[in-house]
Parts: sequence; C-alpha cells; structure tokens
Amino acid sequence: MVLDAGHGGADPGKVSEEGVLEKDLNLVITRRLAKELEDAGVEVILTRTGDEGPGQDQAEAGSRKLADLKARTERINEEYPDLAVSIHQNSYPDPSVRGVQVFYYSRSEAGERMAALMEKAFREGLPEETRVRDSKANEEYYLLRNTEVPAIILECGFLSCPEELSLLMDQDYQEQFCKAAARGILACMGK
Ligand SMILES: [Zn+2]
Repeated sequence: MVLDAGHGGADPGKVSEEGVLEKDLNLVITRRLAKELEDAGVEVILTRTGDEGPGQDQAEAGSRKLADLKARTERINEEYPDLAVSIHQNSYPDPSVRGVQVFYYSRSEAGERMAALMEKAFREGLPEETRVRDSKANEEYYLLRNTEVPAIILECGFLSCPEELSLLMDQDYQEQFCKAAARGILACMGK
C-alpha cells in the first residue's frame, strides 16, 4: 500500500498558532503508521520520506501545489497498490472543533467502504476524548479524483484545537492513533 504524508518542502500545509507545521506532523504520523503496518507484514511505499514536496522543484512558484499533487498521484498510479492513504491534519477557525475524519471520493464505492472500515477502527481504538467524525464524500480533492486505486484522505485531528494538538504531538497518543489506523488499513486489505 502507499502512504502519502501530505504537503512538504515549500508547502507547510496548515500552521498551528504555536507554529507547528502540518507537513512535519504528517511525516511523523506517516512514519509511525508505516512501521505499524510493516510489523504486520504489509509492504509500505511512502511518497516522501523527508521534508520534500514531490514535483515542486520542476514547477513555477504559482503552480507548485498542483505539480506536487500530480507527482504524488502519478506515483500512486505507477505503484498501483491495493490502496492509498493520504495523511493530513485539519484546521478550523473555532478552536473547540476537533476530531478525526476520513474523506473518500464520492464516485468510488471502494473508497466509501474503506472510509467506513477506517471509521470503525477509530471508534474502537481511540480514547473517548477523541471525537470520531462521520466519514465524508468529496468530489473535488485532486488526489482522490485522480488515483486509479481505492484511496482516502485521513485528517488525523485539528491543529487549531490546542487540546487535540497536544494529543497529536504526544508519542503515546501517536502510537494509539497509528495502531488504530493500522487495524483499519489491515481490515481494508481483508486482513
Ligand atoms: Zn493537509
């Protein structure tokens, strides 16, 4: 399977009030999740392993973001894995808004099934303080629209919620989160 740590390089993604960059947290969680999956015998391919934005170098400043998404999507389609999961963090103006949420492409039944299994794994495996939001169909996200294999975007939590940000930065919570996510991914693979 492919794990895609969102953003990177010139694109920090969301930035918390304290200056935590989404791209950094995405990579930490992606690596931890990759390890959980590899320990369970799953072959994991990462679209980035450091602070780089795939495809950004070859693009003009104004089109870097799209070039980055294109490069990730092309990589996923080239590898043609069973499934792909793109890791992100959310943000919202109201700092009390929190929770984990899975997005899938509205025209993909396989994506919808994957999202349901991931949501179930989070409901079973995360502490009560974590709000597990209902999975949501999306018609526009470039990566979801253009990948040729079942794919989801996993928004792990809200950087704009101080309590949730502390949890996401906490190693014990990261482990618990990644164990739950790994169980969901294994379920998606029929394991
Ligand atoms: Zn993001």
